[in-house]
Order: sequence, then structure tokens, then C-alpha cells
Amino acid sequence: MVQTSICFSQNDDRLSYQAYLLDHINDALIACDNDLRLTAWNHAAETTYGWEAGEVLGKPVDEVLAYPDPAPHDIRQMYDQLLANGQFFGEMIHSRKDGTPVFIESRTIALKDADGNCNGFVSVNRNIAERILAQQAQAQLAAIVQSSDDAIFGNSTEGLITSWNKAAERMYGYSEAEILGLRSHVLAPPDRQEEVDRTLEKVNRGESIEHFETVRERKDGRKINVSLTISPIVEEGRVTGSAVIARDITLQKLAEQKLLKTAEDLARSNAELEQFAYIASHDLQEPLRMVTNYLQLIERRYKNRLDADADDFIAFAVDGAARMQHLINDLLSYSRVGRRESRFNPVDLNRVYTQVVSNLSVAIQEKKGEVTCDPLPTILGDELQLAQVFQNLIANGLKFHAQDAPRVHVSAFRKGDYWTLVVKDHGIGIDPEHHERIFGIFQRLHGVNEYPGTGIGLAICKKIIERHHGKIWVESQPNDGASFHFTLLAL
Ligand code: ADP
Repeated sequence: MVQTSICFSQNDDRLSYQAYLLDHINDALIACDNDLRLTAWNHAAETTYGWEAGEVLGKPVDEVLAYPDPAPHDIRQMYDQLLANGQFFGEMIHSRKDGTPVFIESRTIALKDADGNCNGFVSVNRNIAERILAQQAQAQLAAIVQSSDDAIFGNSTEGLITSWNKAAERMYGYSEAEILGLRSHVLAPPDRQEEVDRTLEKVNRGESIEHFETVRERKDGRKINVSLTISPIVEEGRVTGSAVIARDITLQKLAEQKLLKTAEDLARSNAELEQFAYIASHDLQEPLRMVTNYLQLIERRYKNRLDADADDFIAFAVDGAARMQHLINDLLSYSRVGRRESRFNPVDLNRVYTQVVSNLSVAIQEKKGEVTCDPLPTILGDELQLAQVFQNLIANGLKFHAQDAPRVHVSAFRKGDYWTLVVKDHGIGIDPEHHERIFGIFQRLHGVNEYPGTGIGLAICKKIIERHHGKIWVESQPNDGASFHFTLLAL
């Protein structure tokens, strides 16, 4: 049942009907007498302010409604002004019962009798929180648009420019006054005019365009690369225009082109180097073989027939030639990695592992080593080259062992689209400062007498893995073993 708190002198049907209506309007209806004591407080006033009618009737209106800002006397002042002007219309902040502010729009009139004496006041107070919030949001949005680094502007469905922020001024060189009302075609160079028509048609159909990279023209005629995001503005189910966000990507494009060119130059110079290494190592083999053969012949035929020095010199020369042959062979194998035609097939790495361990069986037995592995995946690759990687890494694990007999374990784990293979040993380990260097050609950390080798193995592994679009790296500390990791694309 409606609990009405509006005072009426008579109680006829007409008045109770009015009371019912006043209690059911959406606005807070508040009345007070000449002393500003509340005499009416409808249902909407209860929901707006949180006070029940019974709690506030008879109390001074400023005690109930005053929010610390404006101070209580402001409410009194409003009523004083009312006495003079007869009515008040404006926005105010009142206090709710719980102390929180409520934004209201108040229409208040002074009730005067026939002699002009004031009998009290009646206010119709509307809660305008939503409107205020919407205004604030709009103001915030406008501030964001203005301070954005991206050009933001509005288009009508005909393509006329309807708004223009500061960044748009900077990017295109037109001031807001110059551009408003012009067709957005002015922003495109002659060869892109149709493109503007097409995008307009698309957006007018209600479709969005995201990060569309194209070329636009500034007022001074300079071309700029831009990325455009265009969204239709839909009001009551109808497209009424569009909002464009344009980002200047000219520098980014230049950087991309430069990077592309550098990558092309690098690829070309790599290919030339590879070609050179191949030709050099290949063509050097023949004369070197001749030198080696003749040195060996001299050694056999003249050993102990010349003096002791000559024997030593010949031995040094034979040894040097043999080492040079190794190096040239290694260089040739390295340059062959890239020259090999890509033949990628499913490769069962368990089979590769078994084959490699069998190749290394003599070394394993000699060193009383132990080589083990977990189940390995099948991946897409070049079987022969992957066997080379396994062989180099496992052989290194066997070679670079500490006092204990070498132990090497091969495992694999999958992460996303890649498998990571791990070849772990318990050997002498590698100082982190050399982790990168050891993958370079002929880079070694030890003398040949300490550990034999030429320093090409890891460089070959790196080249093979990169050819398989993977990565290779080592995790290790001195005297704590080494774990060589490499990734391969999963099948
Ligand atoms: P090589 O084995 O012929 O020396 P690599 O290219 O295979 O050539 O290795 C380069 C260098 O990296 C080695 O000389 C060694 O110093 C270091 N290295 C490689 N594998 C290991 C390992 N498992 N443990 C410790 N050091 C290693």
C-alpha cells in the first residue's frame, strides 16, 4: 500500500488521487514549510536519498539534504533566493542517508498565497547521476581523443570529415578549421581515391576495417605510410558515420625495408662466402694431397739418411700437412651443409640415435662410457644431417669428460610446436662466457694435445639446426657437465 507523506488540508477523492500520482512519479517530490521543515517526502525521495518519510518529516531540509559541498548554508541561500525570485532551477549535489553524494536537477517553487505571503516550498528533484556520468565519460573520451598520438577523425556516410583531433593535424598537416566538411578523399593520393570509395562503402555496410596499411598524402604533398582502423558508428541500428584511427607507420616501414635489405645483403654475402669456402676447400684438396703424398714419400725414403734435424723438419711438415688436410675437410663439410638440397622427411630420432651410438661404439668402449636415451620423437628433417648433429654432440660428451668415465644422456620434451632435444654430459663443463663462441668455426677452448679436434663440430651442428628452423644453445658451468639443447619443428 502506498505510504504517502504529502500533507493535504482536505481529504477528498481528487486530492487522494493527486497524492497517489505524486507518490508515484519518478522524481523526488519534497515540500517544506516557511521554516524549511520538511512536510512532504514521496516514494521517489525515499529511493533517491535513502531516508524513509517517517524519518525526515518535520526535520530541517538542510540537515537532511546538505552535502558537505555545497555547505548547508547554500541550501538556505537557495531558499532565500527563492523568496525573491519565486522559483529555482538548477543542478545541485545533495547527500544521501549514507553520506554519499547524489547529483540532482532541482525545480523548486515558493508557494505563495493570494497576498503574496510565502507558505512554503515544493521541489521536484531528479536524480541525474546517469546523465552526469555520461557527460563525464564523454568529456574523458574527448580528452583522450585530443591527447592521442594517433590521428582520430570522424566521417559522415558521404565521407565528409566531421571531427579532427590534434594528432590528425600533426599527421596530415591540415588544421581542424581547414578540414572539417571536406571529403576524406583529400587525404589520399590520386592513385588511392578508389580505395577510399571502397572503404567508405564497406564501412557504410556496417563492416569494420582493422590495421589496414596504405599510403596517404599530407597537405604538403608528402606521402606517409599509415595503418587505418575504421569502425562504423551505428545509431538505432543505422550506420550514421565512421570513426577512423590512423597511425603513421612511415618510420616503421622504412625500418622494415632497411631490415629486409640488410637480410638480403647478408644472405647474399653468406651465399658468396659459402661458395668461396666450398671452392677454396674443394680446390685446395688436390694440391694439398700432392704435397702430403710427396712429403710422406720423402719421409719414407730419406728417414735416417739425412741428419737428425732434417728428420724432425720432415716430420713437422708431414704433421702440418695432415692437420691442414683435416681443416680443409672440415671446411668442406661445413660448406656442404648449406649446399645440400633440402630433403626433409619424417625422421625417427630413435633410429638416428641407435645408428650414431653404433658408429661411436669403439669410442664408448675405449672410454668405458655410458650413453643412454629416453624415447625420442619423429620429426620432419634431413636424416643424414640430424645424425651428424647427434654424432658431434654425443662424441663431444664422450670426449670432454672429467676424471670419471663419460656419461651422456639424450632426452626430449615438447613445447608448443617444437621439440627440444637435450644431450647432457657430466664432463668438464664450459664457462658461460664461451657459450656463444664455441658455435663459431674453428673455435676451441683447449689445445689439440689436451683434447683432439678442429673446432668445426658445433659450427656444423648450428648450421644444420638453423637450416631446420631451430635453435641450438648450451647450458653449462665449469666442472658441472654440459647440456646441449636444440629445437626441431614437431611433425
Ligand atoms: P671440437 O670438438 O673439434 O673441438 P666442437 O666445435 O665440437 O669442436 O667444439 C668446440 C669447443 O667447444 C670444444 O673445443 C670444447 O672446448 C667445447 N665443447 C664442445 N662440447 C663440449 C662439451 N660437451 N663439454 C665441454 N666443452 C665442450
